[in-house]
Amino acid sequence: MKIDPHLFSAKFPDQCRLDLCRSRCCRFGVWVDIEEQKTILANQELFVPYLRPEARDPETWFGKTEKDPDCPSGIAVETQEVAGACSFYNPHHGCVLQKGAAEAGRHEWAIKPRFCIMFPLVVSGGELTVDEDMKSLWCMKEKNRTRPILDAVRKEVEFLFEEEEVRRLNAEEEPLPAVKARAIR
Ligand code: SF4
Repeated sequence: MKIDPHLFSAKFPDQCRLDLCRSRCCRFGVWVDIEEQKTILANQELFVPYLRPEARDPETWFGKTEKDPDCPSGIAVETQEVAGACSFYNPHHGCVLQKGAAEAGRHEWAIKPRFCIMFPLVVSGGELTVDEDMKSLWCMKEKNRTRPILDAVRKEVEFLFEEEEVRRLNAEEEPLPAVKARAIR
């Protein structure tokens, strides 16, 4: 996997503020790997109690399937938008996939899609980069982005990536990230 030098200078808020962002990133659903879809379906007893009533029918959960070389399996499936939000979003609980796993004593991200854990990092064209397209989100507005992004998402990176990739990211990050990034560009 290639690493975009922008990662070493980009910023993110110091902490998530759900009271300000209102989880707008969950408004449209997300693309998940087809293997993640299987994991979600196999663990539905964990999260069904937390779904909104209008999203209880499993037929509403997933939509189109497409080839995607950035997915480990090569195939992505969309989670559908139901009544203005991802089928797995509940304003009282946030992501029900996370809520259900945590309540059952599993890791909070055990069945949550990789793309959602990773945001605002994204793998695009085989390169790990920052999703700078969603500028209208609270966390992506310049004035709120005060903390080096790799520091802000360290826990997520360590959960998602192989040791070797985490080492590469940490090694690049240390010496004056902004200067280093300019040098690489
Ligand atoms: S799967 Fe969960 S985190 Fe991802 S968009 Fe849907 S509600 Fe949000």
